[in-house]
Amino acid sequence: MLNVDSLLLGNTLLYGRLLEVLAGPHLADGAGLLELALEFLECALDVLAFFYLYYNHSFITPFFFFERAKVNNFFYICSLCNTKIMKRPIFITLLLAASLSAAATVPHRSRVPDIPGYKTLKGDFHMHTNFSDGNVWPVTRVDEAHFDGLDFISITDHVETHHQHMVKDFGAKADRNSSYEMAAKQAKKYGILVIHGAELTRGGRTFPGHFNTHFITDGDAVNQVAEAHNGKYGDDEVRQEEAAIIDGLTEAKRQGAFITWNHPDWEQQAPNETKWWPIHTELLNKGLIDGIEIYNSFIGIDPEAFHWAIEKDLAITTGTDAHKPMFQWVDYEKGEYRPMTLVFAKERSLDGIREALDGRRTAALADGCVYGKAEWIKPLLDACIEITNVKFTEKKLTCTVRNNSTIPIHLAKAPGSEMVVYARQVHLNEDEEISFSVNGIDSRKPWNTYEFDVNFYVTNWLTDVDAPLQISYHVSVPAKYRK
Ligand SMILES: [Zn+2]
Ligand SMILES: [Zn+2]
Repeated sequence: MLNVDSLLLGNTLLYGRLLEVLAGPHLADGAGLLELALEFLECALDVLAFFYLYYNHSFITPFFFFERAKVNNFFYICSLCNTKIMKRPIFITLLLAASLSAAATVPHRSRVPDIPGYKTLKGDFHMHTNFSDGNVWPVTRVDEAHFDGLDFISITDHVETHHQHMVKDFGAKADRNSSYEMAAKQAKKYGILVIHGAELTRGGRTFPGHFNTHFITDGDAVNQVAEAHNGKYGDDEVRQEEAAIIDGLTEAKRQGAFITWNHPDWEQQAPNETKWWPIHTELLNKGLIDGIEIYNSFIGIDPEAFHWAIEKDLAITTGTDAHKPMFQWVDYEKGEYRPMTLVFAKERSLDGIREALDGRRTAALADGCVYGKAEWIKPLLDACIEITNVKFTEKKLTCTVRNNSTIPIHLAKAPGSEMVVYARQVHLNEDEEISFSVNGIDSRKPWNTYEFDVNFYVTNWLTDVDAPLQISYHVSVPAKYRK
């Protein structure tokens, strides 16, 4: 899961110093022993601090441990345990073993229920590795996905020649399919589905922009036909970029790709406004845009893209576009989750994902908000909410409402329920349970109406820009409480 070599490399000096302290004659010398004792104490305190945090906060993770809890001291402990001179502090070994087993568990996973007829698969459609301009290995992307409880990821390294660092820096053995292949192999360990993707990027300050091609078979071929246009049109950069995109995406399509337009609101290409350019109409008409990235971790939600997805019936996707390790993008300590695409699939398989994308059965879950068509997010909301202990009296209805997911649900009273009184704001955070009550217009008097609706806007679940999902529960007061 972690690149131990690089951690060790960064700690060589400290590690060496410790070995020096431990080595023979120094042990007899009082100063050496004192130094060792202090270092030992510091290590033990770190491990205890880790334990304390681990058992008191579910967010404590291996990432947290290695990132925050003094990596240096962790390696002090390792070296202490490995050194024959130090056999006595057996409890260090125990602490180390216990802390490692604690770190190996996976406490932080998002939970999103299935909807009737479909499995809700959680995934990330956009990420990079060290095979383009990312800086983690493909296997790490899989480990991170496992850690986050995802069902699938698409490895979408840039295919352009200038991004092929593994080829340039380490020899020509890698190609544009290598990162996918490495990730797919690792993913078998966890049963995570890996999509063979690639990002085709064109346009510096102009469009067409960046496109993810998912379910391709050969990234090299996609790049080859796109780069065949290099230098063909003199100074006409726009023409070259557009021709490259059209041919590159056509090749991807020939391979069976599902294509999304990424981050249309990226400030480098859309400095003042997000626009749908004529080239995008051309691509759409040619069948070269199937979906659109409505959320990208660099930028956040893209309202225009969300609206286009609804208006033009494009599949909604979201991606981290992670280049760095995930824990540097997602604040796990604060309980954050990475943005995810929810795919409502008939089966948990690559074919299932593809079929759902083609059927536009997706939604985005990002920053605690859900974005999607009511057709899909309404049944999802119903699956998240559980209503129990419904009790009537002649003046009141009470019940327990529980959120059985990790998606927050924020409700605001909507029109159509004026004849009854209930909380106008309801907040159900993950796994939260509240008691909820409804009464007639005067709480001291019996019901003034026997058939009514409890209506809400779900303010953080959107079906279009400024269009929150609406939910309604019809209530019929039992006959014995009717006058
Ligand atoms: Zn991009
Ligand atoms: Zn990207």
